Amino acid sequence: MNALPELRMPGPRPFPPRVSAFTRPFWDALEAGTMRSTRCDACGLLGFPPRNLCRACWSRSVSWTELAPAGVLYSFTRVHVAPAAFRADAPYAIGLVDLDDGVRLMCRMVGAVEAADIGGRIGLLVLRYEDGALFGARMTHSPQAT
Ligand SMILES: [Zn+2]
Repeated sequence: MNALPELRMPGPRPFPPRVSAFTRPFWDALEAGTMRSTRCDACGLLGFPPRNLCRACWSRSVSWTELAPAGVLYSFTRVHVAPAAFRADAPYAIGLVDLDDGVRLMCRMVGAVEAADIGGRIGLLVLRYEDGALFGARMTHSPQAT
């Protein structure tokens, strides 16, 4: 298990997650510094967010597995008009990232990101708030540098 880099964030999480008995292993792993999701035991599909039912073959047999810590920025959007909980953070970027294990997910982009970064390398981050962890990503290499 490789712990992801951490970033200390000010205050509590703006919109704390609802944690269920099923998603608790995800949040516990994130607290411990890793991102996990579920892989289908029948067909092998790995997806995000974690699901207790495979979206490809409908198997209910899934196992928790660690996600790749890095990938590529597929696209992003910059949020200027934010929901009330995130208004203090605006403007901020939400990235659509393709992890090296094939999983595509959306997350907060920390630090500078611009159109020229699309196709560049990203790394996942644990965002450590006073009341718990969230996840995000940051650019690690621009496309020109790879
Ligand atoms: Zn399956």
